[in-house]
Amino acid sequence: MAATAPAVVRVLASSVRIADRAGDIIREIMAKGKLGIVEKTGKDDLQTEADRSAQNCILASLLHQYPELKVVGEEGEQDLSQIPSDWIVKDLEENALDLNCTDAFKSAKMEDLTVWVDPLDGTAEYTQVKGLLDHVTVLIGLAIGSQAVAGVIHQPYWNYKTEGAKLGRTFYGLVGGGVRGLTPVKPPQGQKIVTTTRSHGTGLIQQTLDILKPDQILKVGGAGHKVMLLMEGKAHAYVFPSPGCKKWDTCAPEAILHAMGGKLTDMKGETYKYHSEVEHRNMDGVLATAEAADHAWYLDNIPQEVKDKVKDSLRKK
Ligand code: AMP
Ligand code: MG
Ligand code: MG
Repeated sequence: MAATAPAVVRVLASSVRIADRAGDIIREIMAKGKLGIVEKTGKDDLQTEADRSAQNCILASLLHQYPELKVVGEEGEQDLSQIPSDWIVKDLEENALDLNCTDAFKSAKMEDLTVWVDPLDGTAEYTQVKGLLDHVTVLIGLAIGSQAVAGVIHQPYWNYKTEGAKLGRTFYGLVGGGVRGLTPVKPPQGQKIVTTTRSHGTGLIQQTLDILKPDQILKVGGAGHKVMLLMEGKAHAYVFPSPGCKKWDTCAPEAILHAMGGKLTDMKGETYKYHSEVEHRNMDGVLATAEAADHAWYLDNIPQEVKDKVKDSLRKK
């Protein structure tokens, strides 16, 4: 069946197993305790041994199975020739192969795809704060041309505070084909719960929250984790008027959210493009809602002046 499935479905099915393996590596490195932290662009942008190793696992596995695939990883170009052989995943998730694939996506070839990889989203929570490991996710997003169409989110520390419970979960989705591994829940009616960054706050973010006056604000780590809160009905909107997120942060969450009826755009309501040549940074921020119908309310209630300031609003270091 794998050989006859459309290219996008095959890469998605492989990515499910690959994300699981990357999650094992992230847990193994934490258990050993040698995180090997380095600052990339500054203290707000860290990389650990787990980010590097998980990316090596994901890229080597994808390129082993699909040498012609375009893959962009957060940690940039790395030497894949020396990695342990048991990091190279050679199988795929058979259950994903029967996802409904629209005719337009079916005709996409391997060379039409770009895969965006955030090997460890929520590095600040992984390294700096005790008790927030379940904010960490592995994100593998697939674009056909410019459109984010499919994604995998693996949460390696799901359930880690519940003794005896199964540790970790993986879910995935395809636009037009639905979601597997997670049952979406609608957020409570009659309230506005907004989630935003915990560790990359700015004045403009606070100003936006003051204008929106949500009933509750959930400041948590990770782009993947915040979109997951929308999917699980714990928040109505993810509001991030900052240019801090990159395409690897939003590709997988956007695709899965769209597959379940939500909407993710920039703060002006424009959809991001995900072809391999696109600028990595999401310059106009992120605005996502659990239900697509709620998106316009946020767009209408955020002043143009705020929207125009997003791209220049990064905190001065
Ligand atoms: P957060 O919501 O703060 O956990 O951020 C979500 C994702 O965007 C993570 O991958 C962060 O590393 C990244 N990010 C957000 N803001 C910044 C920033 N100011 N500098 C570097 N990375 C950022
Ligand atoms: Mg990230
Ligand atoms: Mg990352």
